[in-house]
Amino acid sequence: MIDIVDIVKSYGKLFGNKTKREILLAEKRYSICLECPQKSNLGICKICKCVLKAKIFTSNQGTCPLGKWDEVERTYAIKTKNVKTTI
Ligand code: SF4
Repeated sequence: MIDIVDIVKSYGKLFGNKTKREILLAEKRYSICLECPQKSNLGICKICKCVLKAKIFTSNQGTCPLGKWDEVERTYAIKTKNVKTTI
């Protein structure tokens, strides 16, 4: 599912103001992606086709198609909305 609002918000966070908690969650998510064989050399997830530098700022949970972000999201995320989106 493509969630345009989530895409815009995530890019807004990438280039705009972020809370320390948002930065921490994004860093945790990205460190997982760096170890994932589904991350392309261009920084795009091969499964969901998302640009990871932006996707890591999504306020939604459960957006890693393999569920690899679930544990850090339980620890660091603020919202509990759980959707699969393309960013
Ligand atoms: S979003 Fe999930 S599946 Fe995609 S590269 Fe990151 S950890 Fe891997």
